[in-house]
Amino acid sequence: MVSSDQLPKNYDFAEVEERWRGTWRDEDHFFDKNSKKPQFVIDTPPPYPTGNFHIGNALNWCYIDFFARYKRMKGFNVMFPQGWDCHGLPTEVKVEELNHITKNDVPREEFRRLCVELTEKNISLMRLTLRKMAFSTDWSNEYITMMPDYYGKTQLSFLRMLKSGYIYQSEHPVNYCIRCETAIAFAEVSYDDRETQLNYFDFQGVEIATTRPELLAACVAVAVHPADERYHFLKDKKMEVPLFGHEVPVVQDEAVDPAFGSGAVMICTFGDKQDVHWWKQHNLSLRKAIDRQGKMTAIAGRYEGMNTADCRTAILADMKARKILKRQENLAQRVGTCWRCKTPIEILSERQWFVKIKPDEIRKAAHQITWYPEHMLLRMENWIGQMEWDWCISRQRIFATPIPVWFCKKCGERVIPEELDLPVDPTLVTPKHPCPKCGNTGFDGEADVLDTWMDSSISVLNVTGWDGTGTPPFFPAQIRPQGHDIIRTWAFYTILRSVALTGSKPWEEILINGMVLGEDGFKMSKSRGNIIVPEEILGKYGADALRQWSAMGAATGSDIMFNWNDVVAASRFQTKMWNIAKFALIQLEKEGFDQNAPVTALADRWLLVRLSDTIQQVSAAMECYQFDTALKAIREFAWETLADNYIEMVKGRLYTGEASRKSALLVLHTAFDALCKMLAPFTPYFAEECYSHLNKGTSVHKQPWVSFTYEDEAARYEGNLLAQVVAEVRKYKHDTGLALNAPLGKVTIYAPHTVNDEGDTGRTLNADVHWRTDAVKLDRVITDIDFNRAVIGPAFRKQAQAFMTAIKALPPHQLANPPKTIILDGSEVVIPENSFSPKFSYVEEGAKVDVLTVGDVIVTIAKSA
Ligand SMILES: [Zn+2]
Ligand SMILES: [Zn+2]
Repeated sequence: MVSSDQLPKNYDFAEVEERWRGTWRDEDHFFDKNSKKPQFVIDTPPPYPTGNFHIGNALNWCYIDFFARYKRMKGFNVMFPQGWDCHGLPTEVKVEELNHITKNDVPREEFRRLCVELTEKNISLMRLTLRKMAFSTDWSNEYITMMPDYYGKTQLSFLRMLKSGYIYQSEHPVNYCIRCETAIAFAEVSYDDRETQLNYFDFQGVEIATTRPELLAACVAVAVHPADERYHFLKDKKMEVPLFGHEVPVVQDEAVDPAFGSGAVMICTFGDKQDVHWWKQHNLSLRKAIDRQGKMTAIAGRYEGMNTADCRTAILADMKARKILKRQENLAQRVGTCWRCKTPIEILSERQWFVKIKPDEIRKAAHQITWYPEHMLLRMENWIGQMEWDWCISRQRIFATPIPVWFCKKCGERVIPEELDLPVDPTLVTPKHPCPKCGNTGFDGEADVLDTWMDSSISVLNVTGWDGTGTPPFFPAQIRPQGHDIIRTWAFYTILRSVALTGSKPWEEILINGMVLGEDGFKMSKSRGNIIVPEEILGKYGADALRQWSAMGAATGSDIMFNWNDVVAASRFQTKMWNIAKFALIQLEKEGFDQNAPVTALADRWLLVRLSDTIQQVSAAMECYQFDTALKAIREFAWETLADNYIEMVKGRLYTGEASRKSALLVLHTAFDALCKMLAPFTPYFAEECYSHLNKGTSVHKQPWVSFTYEDEAARYEGNLLAQVVAEVRKYKHDTGLALNAPLGKVTIYAPHTVNDEGDTGRTLNADVHWRTDAVKLDRVITDIDFNRAVIGPAFRKQAQAFMTAIKALPPHQLANPPKTIILDGSEVVIPENSFSPKFSYVEEGAKVDVLTVGDVIVTIAKSA
């Protein structure tokens, strides 16, 4: 351990952070399954292993680490697990790119192996960033969803929900991305605005408007409003579809808007959600015109094999040729797109697997959870209210959890594995027993795989120890931290699955973080070039500065705009704190520090009161995850109260070694110790560095949260007064061009109460300070006169000098209240308005003084000659 006076002049974050990283042990952050302490289990989001831990992740994880560290200090048995949500399309696409293959070029198993390999590499990269950021991750509770350990649980949860009737298989229209070649859930549909064309064409004498003429082959009905008299003649009739010739019924439906276009619309399977609704309502037939690759099917006749765009062009051309295309209009449209690749989605009817959505059940559980911030519950409410379709969980991909189901080749019976045999890939192995229905031994394994949200929505069950038997031992978790962009997916699905599998809410609290926007205020994106990567900030300013930025950027839940200035400010705070630390450490190492010294001086008692206030404020903010409030209070205390006020006030006492030096030393130690503890969750490296110097190598991260309280109402009042007076007089010195340590003369402070400052004010101001409680007696005297030559010159010309002499000769009471005229060279002349103004000064006990007022306190300063 270096001696304090050998402490480096500047705080070198790079050296300090690397050194502590090498010292800290993972075991210190492990959750203890046998602990008697109250548990605090965090359902950490498992990020997608892209290889880059992005700034949004960083924000989210900073919040988690702030409260994980805080809770540990508060005596909780904390689990801060780290998961990796591996499955999914982006990795498949990356593997195809990197290996110059498509998924169909290699065997399924080989493709999966390549995905696993890439994912493992990416996870190791991201782990490094997590460590640099000083997150107190519980690495003994790491989980990787692509590993058999984990996806075995996903399969178990699937089977449980299949048995309890939550999961079913059915042919039903689903959102489908033809580029990703897979079904997707409603939650994965984003909406983009685009311009399209509305085409009016003649449908056997009735005008129909459509934005999707390529769906004409899939037309199954024409719908009109029942009250629309224009179409009463069509009741119970059939109509022939132009170009294709098949007949469709005319249906009446209240939902048709008679004012839109001609008031007649065609129903296709499927143009949009409304089509699906009508299709069910009127029990219409199904015509599949588009296949899974987005190509036109055989029912499209001569358009078969075309993609939808080419088909649209061809059909419009044919309509023109037959003169049935009447006109075209531009139309602004919101179109549903795949959230991953932005391709407009198709609604295709497919045999898929679904999870039943029971809105009331989910709503009830959502209301049993405490939401931070509270208004985020509304987003969940709104989403639950929009639920129309069940959750489609099957995907037609490869790198995902296999659906553990076989079908008998002979009788079609559905066969599932024993739970003990999980995990299984039904495309690689067959059931252990022949078909229970027909005895056949040939089976088709389900080739569809599960939506990745099926993996991640049991993260909480996994970390709380779910093995399929009863309620998991550590369930429910205490908190779920996550972004507001995945409320309708991850939060929603987790609640659904927890209720379905355990009958209970998944967590006690949910903490929502905002998104990080670029410096330009826009969402970060490659195309805008406004992406900031955590590694860049770490390199320039270190982890502690980045962590401070996360805390201070915005209130929890709000979006936060990235700003380098905030990072620089954070780094400056560390510099300031380091200077305070050096000062404190040097003083504390000198003789005289006594842990049991009585705290006597007013400034000392005052600082303890302010420290106590700060601790209450910070603790209260930490309890409800208001990190910006907490860190702001810490910074204000450290910077203003401690450094600018207190240390300036007691420096003299510390240097001159008077009796009350011990009191100041103890207070300095108490404040600095508390600051290190309060900073520990926010700036773990910095706090550790300072604390280890202060307490000879002990770790701040093993200390309990600071619980110091101190009450002294007199000290609060008088100390505030003291601090304000000192600050005002120092400002006065600065404003009048005096050095802060220059001798000032006599300072008299007229306050309502006697204040015993132990000489601190005098030493700080380098003045002869007197505190008095009697009323100040000041004489206001005229000490000079300002003449206005612009008025006097033109008015008196050659007599100007004589005028000024005459004015100067007036007695003081006349100067203060000037007469209208004055005698000049024997004649009476008028004193022009604004020709002069007297200058007043204050005189106290015969000496000229400057006067300052601080609230109801008056300070007089008689400068030394
Ligand atoms: Zn897609
Ligand atoms: Zn069978």
